[in-house]
Amino acid sequence: MARKFFVGGNWKCNGTTEEVKKIVTTLNEAEVPSEDVVEVVVSPPFVFLNFVKSLLRSDFHVAAQNCWVRKGGAFTGEISAEMLVNLSIPWVIIGHSERRALLKESNEFVGDKVAYALSQGLKVIACIGETLEERESGSTMAVVAAQTKAIADKVTNWDNVVLAYEPVWAIGTGKVATPAQAQDVHRELRKWLSENVSGAIAESTRIIYGGSVNGANCKELAAQPDVDGFLVGGASLKPEFVDIIKSAT
Ligand code: PGA
Repeated sequence: MARKFFVGGNWKCNGTTEEVKKIVTTLNEAEVPSEDVVEVVVSPPFVFLNFVKSLLRSDFHVAAQNCWVRKGGAFTGEISAEMLVNLSIPWVIIGHSERRALLKESNEFVGDKVAYALSQGLKVIACIGETLEERESGSTMAVVAAQTKAIADKVTNWDNVVLAYEPVWAIGTGKVATPAQAQDVHRELRKWLSENVSGAIAESTRIIYGGSVNGANCKELAAQPDVDGFLVGGASLKPEFVDIIKSAT
């Protein structure tokens, strides 16, 4: 099965109503490859999700940036998977490195969140990635394998999972991984999936890259055989996000 190119825009904790309208207008007017060729998902902050969904072209979709680990209830400040489903939000980002680092989300907690979101019918962009220290000490693969294992241990159906490899040292730093660095980790991750989950799942699961992707570096990264798309932060708030979508072809 061919893996459809996937481009996600992670808006993080940014935007005003006016700014959000402007980004959506740019996206709505853009000429990009069809939905058969590239799957485009943008992830605004919770408070703008419904607003963006109501304005956004129908061939693009929305993702939440997080959701709670189990059924909603007495969890002040949290948003449940059930609520996202109720609002017809199809996707959620889980395990972003900013949450892992700042909010101390552990591998196990991320695995539980992925499993719960999937059980409610959401599609999940599950994020993994090593820090600079981990890369420099040669433990990149051990770190991303442990993060992936914590997810794989709890996932039974991979159809609705996109794995986002985002080296922490490349996020928001302008220090993008080289195409060879990205390809190396993606190839190893696919091998890990093949050996620990199944060959078919390794073949069909999209592994996307994130970390300082922009309009200028996306083409070469997209040309790598195991890079199936991108999760874009900073550049997803700018018109060059359209060029990143176009790198699908
Ligand atoms: P960046 O962020 O593109 O701004 O580096 C990527 C991400 O955090 O998903």
